[in-house]
Amino acid sequence: MTAAAAPVAVITGAASGIGAATAVALATSGYRVGIGSFAGDPHDPERTLAAVRQAGGDGAVIEVDVRDTASVEGFVEQAVQRWGRLDTAIANAGILRAAPFAAMTDDQWGDVLSVDLHGVMRTARAAVRHLGAGGSIVAVSSIAGGVYGWGEHAHYATAKAGVIGLVRSLAVEFGPRGIRANAIIPGLIETPQSLDAVNSLGPEGLRQAGGYIPAGRVGRPEEVAAVAAFLAGAGASYVSGQAIIVDGALTVAMRD
Ligand code: NAD
Repeated sequence: MTAAAAPVAVITGAASGIGAATAVALATSGYRVGIGSFAGDPHDPERTLAAVRQAGGDGAVIEVDVRDTASVEGFVEQAVQRWGRLDTAIANAGILRAAPFAAMTDDQWGDVLSVDLHGVMRTARAAVRHLGAGGSIVAVSSIAGGVYGWGEHAHYATAKAGVIGLVRSLAVEFGPRGIRANAIIPGLIETPQSLDAVNSLGPEGLRQAGGYIPAGRVGRPEEVAAVAAFLAGAGASYVSGQAIIVDGALTVAMRD
């Protein structure tokens, strides 16, 4: 693949976790990657860029706040201006907040929806304006909402269920233009989000989960990233409108 022909991907929330691993997976597959960096994130996006370069790839750190339409459009446009094309958008950014439903405020509800559902919409909308035939969108859903309900996380599960309806609709609307849209439904993956014991399982909860997940352990970000890279690329040229579960068989196991 010549440098001029190398495809271009943008990834939101790429300073850590699944997003960082996906940047590296796409770089390994030959993409030039726009590494979405959120100012409120304590992780250093330059580490993702260094890992992309280590993998022999090319990338750039670009700021993006998916709660803001202008920011998302600027993010995508910077990548297009830099590299002259866009082939894939990975809508990965997400937040998780525990909140009992009866006491949940409109702001709590709205904050999570603004990132986890509207942020995916904004990313996909900005991307489809630049994608051509062969282009793809991959959005990150969750087993919470994508498969299960989750007490005290109704806003999160609602957003993640919505992501699936969104990619199905995009697959239908943009299929005739040769653009595909899919979702990934990760199970329990060890990242800063799941290691947060206040809003998620935390280290001890993840350790215990290894006891009931058939795979015997929680997942690694790279194991989700590999599926994202597959869905993004030509190897998945006839896969669209789907939501692929990556969970070590967690959701098919009968607990006894
Ligand atoms: P993470 O916290 O490492 O990554 C989330 C990323 O989103 C961070 O880089 C953060 O900076 C970014 N982000 C947050 N708010 C943003 C905003 N307003 N604008 C732009 N970026 C923003 O955790 P992760 O687990 O890698 O999460 C990646 C995705 O995977 C999320 O959508 C998450 O909900 C989903 N997910 C994770 C798991 C899991 O077990 N870790 C399971 C299912 C789904």
